[in-house]
Amino acid sequence: MNPTGLARNTRENRDGVDLNRQYLHREAVETRAHIEWLDRQPSFEVALCLHEDWESHGFYLYELNPDGLPSHAARMISAVEKICPIDRAEIIEGRPASGGIIHPSSDPRSRPQWPEAFYLFTHKTRLSYTLEAPSDFPMATRVNSLIAAVRVVAEES
Ligand SMILES: [Zn+2]
Repeated sequence: MNPTGLARNTRENRDGVDLNRQYLHREAVETRAHIEWLDRQPSFEVALCLHEDWESHGFYLYELNPDGLPSHAARMISAVEKICPIDRAEIIEGRPASGGIIHPSSDPRSRPQWPEAFYLFTHKTRLSYTLEAPSDFPMATRVNSLIAAVRVVAEES
């Protein structure tokens, strides 16, 4: 979703814009195109954003589930830990975490710059996960971790 950033190996696009903070105030053409596409889709039972964290030393995930729907988080972690270490720090990215699971505030006003997950959560679904595989690990480990987590959700949905 960020072709110019991929080519430059940067998080930001070629204009220095962090596209994953553009989902409320949409200035970047890439994000506007993505939202136009999303708006043509039906609602989702669950949304999964597959990410990597270059600073993390293990896998972790974010869950947005304000209605208390049945959670997939613990079973995703159980499946991934057979493949990749879990980041069990009590604080990850400045947020309280438990067993590799972060429950960020689901109040849209809490984030002045929305990531993709906030757009999904406010427009398309009531259950959203952002999965973070650690960039330090080999590609196969990262990919297989993400596949294992996605498979858990697919089997439970
Ligand atoms: Zn991320």
